[in-house]
Amino acid sequence: MITWDKSLDSLFINGKWISADSGRTESVINPATLEKLTDVSWAGRTETEHAIQSASLAFPEWSRKTARERSKILYKTHELLLERVERLSTILTMEQGKPLAEAKGEIRSAANFFLWYAEEANRLYGEWIPSSIPGKRLLVKPEPIGVIAAITPWNFPSSMIARKLAPALAAGCTVILKPAPETPLSAIELVSILTEAGVPDGVVNLVTGDAEEIGSAFMESRDVRLITFTGSTEVGKLLMKGSANTVKKLSLELGGHAPILVFEDANLERAASQTLASKFRNSGQTCICANRVYVHENVKERFANLLHEKISLLKAGNGLEKGIDLGPLINRQSLDKVQSHLKDAIQKGANVLNGGAPLQTGLRGYFYSPTLLTQATKDMKVMREETFGPLLPLQSFTEEADVIHKANDTDYGLAAYLFTDNLSRATRVSEALEYGIVGVNDVFPAVPEAPFGGVKQSGIGKEGGSQGIHEYVNLKYISTVIDE
Ligand code: ADP
Repeated sequence: MITWDKSLDSLFINGKWISADSGRTESVINPATLEKLTDVSWAGRTETEHAIQSASLAFPEWSRKTARERSKILYKTHELLLERVERLSTILTMEQGKPLAEAKGEIRSAANFFLWYAEEANRLYGEWIPSSIPGKRLLVKPEPIGVIAAITPWNFPSSMIARKLAPALAAGCTVILKPAPETPLSAIELVSILTEAGVPDGVVNLVTGDAEEIGSAFMESRDVRLITFTGSTEVGKLLMKGSANTVKKLSLELGGHAPILVFEDANLERAASQTLASKFRNSGQTCICANRVYVHENVKERFANLLHEKISLLKAGNGLEKGIDLGPLINRQSLDKVQSHLKDAIQKGANVLNGGAPLQTGLRGYFYSPTLLTQATKDMKVMREETFGPLLPLQSFTEEADVIHKANDTDYGLAAYLFTDNLSRATRVSEALEYGIVGVNDVFPAVPEAPFGGVKQSGIGKEGGSQGIHEYVNLKYISTVIDE
């Protein structure tokens, strides 16, 4: 077991761990037990401005390093993350609640983002354009965008940071990271590892504290050239508005409302296992998890029965214990939201097959039973708004065109999934879905080597893949007249 015996100096600015100027701290709570883990420093505008200054000063030297030099540090980070997987996953589970096996998976995923961008750092190619005018040479040179600010959520407290920092550092940018207040400890660990791997002073800075003050300092700064954010669509919009005055680039991974389409020609057993895995991973607190399932009329009963059986076997509890499938929700508001979506669905005619209430586990945390609803209709909140909890509504359909329309009838466009064993249908439907990511018989499409990101109000930009590093790059065009 890991313990902390004093408040942590959790601000990391210009290579030093320090406390807030005001001396203010805030508690970090284990959401499974509601016990306090430790206190962390609580920064505001002044410390953030200081961190931005430190990142600006470090930028010229870091950006001039060769790609190989930066890549070596990222390889080392990958190695250290894997070496420390036990410690890091335990801390992650303690502050976030997810089962330890999921936390280990997350640390490995974070490590793999560093590996991928250690490799991509060396492949950030430019272009030579054939000129239409004699005596001219036209070059396109990728250059790091400058100082970037990263704002990350609590649901994946390690991998969401890795997805941003790895490509930013590979490209030659310097960073100020603001993690979610619920989960600062994973961020502190990751930043310590980056330092140990050789990241120079000032290149990565960390501020834990007041979201609005830190956010405004980022938005108003002329030095911060990009804000990369993962979180709610609501805060994403605030960041867009607030960044207009300084014309900053934004990279936004926002909310989603993923549909799963189960056709009658699907392997139902696989569709049910994967739907379960998608919905109840992290207790439904992921932006790409299944929010609503459309199942063909002819197989709806068999599919619901399969889900019902599988859900009955899920075990909730403290994620540090063996055999736990579901941890707690992050806080009381999350539990209240699940309850209100459920109440609304029942009032509008939904049928509860499993669950439907907070769960008694003997722990003080906010546990909710995995809940399966049938007879869902589009006017229910659960079918339109992100529940971010373990509520799974099923609605039946008969026509392919109709279910595509239903799936697309939303302002969100992050991930969508379909289950079918018919190749033509898989191709047709995946092309018709208005989403940034489509999983065909696959609910875990997020990997470091592929571009992750939404359309419509789910966001702007890509994380991962060879495309992910381009978020952090400006293309400079150099036109030269030469004497031939
Ligand atoms: P959630 O409701 O799931 O916590 P948020 O979008 O509120 O999602 O939070 C995601 C991240 O954005 C967190 O790090 C949070 O502290 C931060 N955040 C919240 N409000 C603001 C804001 N006004 N400005 C900048 N960052 C914010």
